[in-house]
Order: sequence, then C-alpha cells, then structure tokens
Amino acid sequence: MLLRLIAPTTFLSLLVGSFLVGAQNATETIEASIPPQSSPVWLSNIQPIPGNTDSYPLGDVPTGPLETAPFALQNYPPGWKSPPVDSPDVQAVIKALDWSQVPNITVRKAGKGGDVDMGGYDDKADPDCWWTATGCTQSTRPNIPPDIFNCPIPGDWGLTYDDGPLPEDDDSQWAEPRLYDFLAEHKQKASLFYIGSNVIAAPAAARRALADGHTLCSHTWSHPSMTAQSNEVVVAELYWTLRAIKEVTGVTAKCWRPPYGDVDDRVRAIAWQMGMTTVTWDLDTDDWNMPGSGGGHLSPSVVDGYFQGWIDSRANGTDNATGHVVLQHELNNSTVSMAEKWLPEIQKVFRVMPHNQCHNIQNPYWETNFVYPTNNGSSAAIPEQQNNNSSVPAASGEVASSDPSSPSSLSSGQDTDMTSNAYRTIATHTYVSTLLLFLGLIVQY
Ligand SMILES: [Zn+2]
Repeated sequence: MLLRLIAPTTFLSLLVGSFLVGAQNATETIEASIPPQSSPVWLSNIQPIPGNTDSYPLGDVPTGPLETAPFALQNYPPGWKSPPVDSPDVQAVIKALDWSQVPNITVRKAGKGGDVDMGGYDDKADPDCWWTATGCTQSTRPNIPPDIFNCPIPGDWGLTYDDGPLPEDDDSQWAEPRLYDFLAEHKQKASLFYIGSNVIAAPAAARRALADGHTLCSHTWSHPSMTAQSNEVVVAELYWTLRAIKEVTGVTAKCWRPPYGDVDDRVRAIAWQMGMTTVTWDLDTDDWNMPGSGGGHLSPSVVDGYFQGWIDSRANGTDNATGHVVLQHELNNSTVSMAEKWLPEIQKVFRVMPHNQCHNIQNPYWETNFVYPTNNGSSAAIPEQQNNNSSVPAASGEVASSDPSSPSSLSSGQDTDMTSNAYRTIATHTYVSTLLLFLGLIVQY
C-alpha cells in the first residue's frame, strides 16, 4: 500500500533533489526542497469579531438556532465576483511572497463552471502537475508540496463538504445550521471548505461550525477555475477568504481546496506560501450535479449508486488499499438531504472523520490553541497542555521522519506553529515509502 503512495518521479527527485537547483526553467530559481511555511503575517492586523470559541470542543457542542454574529461587511469586496487586486491588503500579500518559488506557468483559459481549456497541454509529460488534465497530486518539482487527496489507512473516510456555509437566503429550509445540527446529532466532525463570499453572508453559521468541532478550510472567494487566474487574482481569491474566516471565526486555515479540483504547480506554490496545503479528493460523489439550486441534471439514483458501491467494496474487502477523502457539498436541498441519507450508512462501515484527523494534523490552523484529535492515539487536548509543544507526532504505525529538509529544521521564530503537520505526515510516508522501495530493490538484487 505504501509503495503506491510514491511515484517513480518522486523517488528520483528525492534521490537527486539536491542537484536540481535551477534546473526547471532558465527564468526560475527553484529551491531543491519544499520551502518552509510561516504564519501569514499579513493577517496579523485582522481582529476577529468577539464571541468566538477559542479551542476545540471536548464535550457537548452547540446546536439549534444560530446566534447573530456582529460582523460588518464594508471592508470586503462584493461577494461572488473576482476580487480586485489593487487593494493595499492584496498588494501587501503580493509583496510578501517569494515569487522565485512560483513556477512560471501559462495562465489557462476557462469558461464557466470549471470548463478549462486543456488544448495543447502535454498530458503525458504533465510538466505542471495539472490535476484537471491528469489527476496529478504530486509534483516532480522539488519545491512543490504534494496534495492531500486520500486517507492513508484503509477504512478511513475523510468527510468533506464544499461550498458552505449555506446562507439562509439560498435555500432556507436547508440552510445552516441544518447540516451542522445533523452532524452533531450523529457525533460526527467534518472538514468544511468555505467560500469566502458565503462566510461573510453567513458568519453565524461559520462560527457555529468551528464551535461544533469541524475543520475549516478555504475554498476561494468567488469559486473560479484557479489555473485560469493570474498570480495576483490567485492571491486575492485566497486572501479574502482567509481573512473572512479569520475575522468571523478567529482561526487562520492551513488547508484549501481548489474549485473543480483545478490546481497546478503555480497555484499550489502560491497557496503554500500563503500558509495552506492543497486538499483534493479520491472519491467524488458528484452530488453538486443533482437538480437543486446551483445544481445540474444528474439523477440522484446515480449518486446513491456511488455511495452504495463504496460501502459494498469496503464491506466485501475489495477496498483495502487506502482510506479516502470524499467530496460532498453543502450547496442545496439535494446535497444536504443526500448527506443526511448516507452518513449513518457510511458510519456503519467506515471510520468517518475530517481529513486532518486521518493525516494526524493536530493543528489545522495557525492558531495553535485549537488542538484536534488525530488517528495515532492523540486526542483533543486543552490548549494549555499543548502550548509551546513543537513536537509533531508521526503517522500511525510509522517512525518519525528525520529528513533534514523537513520544515521543522528550516523554520524559525514566527508566532505560531511553524511546522506543517500536513507536510510532515506526507514527508513521513514518503520517507518510509522510499525506504521500503530501497529495501525492495536490495532484495531483488
Ligand atoms: Zn466548490
């Protein structure tokens, strides 16, 4: 199973990574390893609105009608439109990033709804690890971090909902806190990939989600195909969403998901420098495509079939290579009712959890007072026990990586957790995988 996690190209790059400096492109200065991340300093002046929870909930969570959140919209660009890049806030981020770390890749052309023009792209070579074209999740560029796209352990189900929080004026009966209350009833935590425009439209729902123990991640401001946006617009889409989540809930997300999965090395590199790991999926319910507000024409019976098939495969032992990260949506009545229908069935067969739990990411935010449960035995802890604790647990059943290029040895001095648990987990897998591959080669000869 572990061997499948590493592509031959990765193996090669690990072996010779240190010799690849500057080899990618004459106009780029590419580092031989993934650059360290740091807490986004350009958000340090954003004051969260009062009344938020300040730690992961250890007991009962709030349910029922939402309280109002004292949030003012006036400092934000219009929702659901490409945000301007000339604001001083966005310009400050652009200035703070190291653009020598961002590959010089052509900006794609896109229509509406994730329809990106892939004409002329070399799928076979896939030089840009462009997910939309090839499903690539692991770049061959040594300075680009891998994506999270599944759970390592078979039987784990990373529960993720995109496009929320669902505001009341969209689909009132199905708006939040309906799904959050349902999840609380079923003692279930999930990863929520939030659209910034929805966060400012439903701030009370966003803060409820954090108080309920879900993991909040970014899903951009206006939901475009990100590989079709200029560097500046990519920054603006990510900045306004991070800022909205921080101002409304008090946390700074370390994870994001590209709309339509549309990501390449250029977009990955920018998101990484803005403090986030890219998270995609390996099972797609296609639930967004069912009839409903903002939906399509897919028969719900097809989506039912997907869920049943995954449950059957796990139950009969054929699904035993890895766990999964599964794409669902809090988008409209169809997606929410489908979530309610299938969660109890999934829980019977899979261990269901947010994606960060199956990757042993205790701190999914740059604020380290939120400590989440992980798969390797550590449970949620009160912040006092975790403050100033820089040790990061290894992935389940594996030894900790001593890779000197890991961020812990490169980082220094910022205000919060400077290591990336996501990277560490993946690095650990890669390290162990490489070791096993090496041993396999020795045995062969
Ligand atoms: Zn989406």
